[in-house]
Amino acid sequence: MLIYLRLVTMEILLLLSCCIGDYLLLHPIKQSQLLTAATDSLTHGIVGAFSWAIICDVKFTRQTVLECFLCGLLAMSVDIDHFLSAKSFHLKDALSLPRRPPFHATTVIILVDLVLITLSFILDQKFLLGAYLFTTAWFSHHVRDGHRRGLWFYPFGDTSPIPQYYYLFIIFIFPLITRFIYLKFYKPYITDRVIELDAMMV
Ligand SMILES: [Zn+2]
Repeated sequence: MLIYLRLVTMEILLLLSCCIGDYLLLHPIKQSQLLTAATDSLTHGIVGAFSWAIICDVKFTRQTVLECFLCGLLAMSVDIDHFLSAKSFHLKDALSLPRRPPFHATTVIILVDLVLITLSFILDQKFLLGAYLFTTAWFSHHVRDGHRRGLWFYPFGDTSPIPQYYYLFIIFIFPLITRFIYLKFYKPYITDRVIELDAMMV
């Protein structure tokens, strides 16, 4: 029962962060490009962190808090490509690019996931954790941006901007679907592996 209460609370916080972040983008406290960009970036981070908290069953151990923090950082890291493409540290240059920078292509998520999943088969299943974290962080960022600019599936083109309610629904449902897959398939496997390794060491 408590777990459902925590899930509902976390989902409410997730949607609230999107709404507050979007509101502050349209109605900034102060007309400052830096403050607006920082607020947007922080919102991406908070959305990523809350999404991961839902996925890992809202159990706040040292490990899961670290994962939430990492997911938030990864979600914020997408916008680094603005600076890389502009070859400049100046915000003005980063925000006046002629086209969308590469990390904003949703096809990049698919490619990176393919690499991580392959590595998980060849090297260690823990690469799958990387795939879950990466997808959650970057996809939530893409969906938030997609509300304004659509999703970009390079080289096939992009969709039209995602309407407000669809975008919030995707942000709401994505961690729940991922949580189901993560807890059903990834978590039991890793727990079994730890038990096996412990048994080998006795
Ligand atoms: Zn972005």
